[in-house]
Amino acid sequence: MEERAALLARVSAGHGTEIKDPATGEVIGRIAFGTPGEVAAAVDTAAKAQPGWAALDDQERCAALMRAADAIDAHAEELAYVVSREQGKTMNGLGARYEAAGCAAWVRATASTPLPVEVLVDDGQSRAELHYRPIGVVGAITPWNWPMIIACWQIAPALRMGNTVVQKPSEYTTLTGLAIAAVLNEALPPGVLTAVTGAGDVGDALVRDPRVGKVMFTGSVKTGMKVIEASAGNMPRLTLELGGNDAAIVLPDVDPQAIAEGLFWGAFINNGQTCAAMKRLYVPDAIYDEVVDALAALAAKIPMGVGLDEGNVLGPLQNQMQWNVVNRLVEDAKVRGARVVMGGDPDAAAPGYFYPKTLIADIDNAAPLVQEEQFGPALPIIRYTDLEQAVEWANGVDVGLGASVWSADRDTALAIAARLQAGTVWINSHGGIDPRVPFGGAKRSGYGLEFGVEGLKAVSVPQVISG
Ligand code: ADP
Repeated sequence: MEERAALLARVSAGHGTEIKDPATGEVIGRIAFGTPGEVAAAVDTAAKAQPGWAALDDQERCAALMRAADAIDAHAEELAYVVSREQGKTMNGLGARYEAAGCAAWVRATASTPLPVEVLVDDGQSRAELHYRPIGVVGAITPWNWPMIIACWQIAPALRMGNTVVQKPSEYTTLTGLAIAAVLNEALPPGVLTAVTGAGDVGDALVRDPRVGKVMFTGSVKTGMKVIEASAGNMPRLTLELGGNDAAIVLPDVDPQAIAEGLFWGAFINNGQTCAAMKRLYVPDAIYDEVVDALAALAAKIPMGVGLDEGNVLGPLQNQMQWNVVNRLVEDAKVRGARVVMGGDPDAAAPGYFYPKTLIADIDNAAPLVQEEQFGPALPIIRYTDLEQAVEWANGVDVGLGASVWSADRDTALAIAARLQAGTVWINSHGGIDPRVPFGGAKRSGYGLEFGVEGLKAVSVPQVISG
């Protein structure tokens, strides 16, 4: 066995469901999936560990998180190997090693963010302070696209604030979820982080457990709505980071060559399987052909293939379900007469869930490839002549996670940005995130913020001390 495969072997069960590499179909491990009935025991463990963990002072908890980040670094190649084999992303590029390094960076940043007591009033007559107290047990429910780092985004702030966590990884990337938990647990006291496995019914049981005081959920809008419904019984607080259908608006004053790379990776990061990836590109008629040509020339040079091959920077889609979504949307675009600039011709007989890099030009804004979240490597490029129309189209969906404006003039870009209905608007880039900067959605992309001071506050109970 390769040395870097040790962690995968450690979290894989000797029996249960076979887990296959999405690039090759090869069996990489097994999982004995858990059931909703097992959630209560995990929450028990977390609830018992919580008072002791909360009794540590903030510095001690931060020190433990720093040790957890060191453990991630020590196992970085093994973690990257697990996620590459189970999720499909390439070891290189914005792939598996990048995700593992991001986990360590995020955990460290979470442990380094100051959260002083806020003095709200101190006028000689009265005094009011705002403190942030632990909630108790936090349920962390994660998706399959960035299965390690999203787990860290949920777990690290929750722990920092004195909560304990029960984590439920996606059933599509359970081994990765177990791997990151195992590594974090090398540095954490027993019971502070517990993982449960299984499908949506296990997630549902976690949301409904009366001892869970907060649920961090990242996933689809549809499931987010179910989480809201399930939360009505016991009222856990919720942070919901749901899907997006991010628009990018290019203005006529840009240099198409100069922005091509930013546009490409904004859309194709992790093969488009990224919540805040660019999913609709609006380009003015005046430079439409230049932008499409520059993107196509760049895309043609990007190697796609098996994630473990060091030469590749894009891999397969993670699962058949997502492959079917992308294929359906592209086939529909073709029927509508949109122009296939590249891709759109998957080899269904080849092994793995590969879908080629696809650019679809001259597509009607009403097409499902534009209106629905494709979550894959197929970018619709919509031609516009009237900027007002482009802004209206950009805002014309019921989600609003991110958006971007591309212009040589910052003031013009800022004026457009202010009108876009999205939790983040990037200028001349798309999708970059930073542990110091809050991230969350508008409209049905969810509510609550992650990262930064706001992210810490979101996993705690504000308490006013008055007098
Ligand atoms: P995605 O397609 O992005 O994986 P989902 O929303 O289906 O989106 O899944 C995200 C996470 O939510 C997964 O861990 C999944 O098992 C979990 N999940 C699915 N259904 C439910 C539910 N009803 N309640 C809680 N969690 C759920």
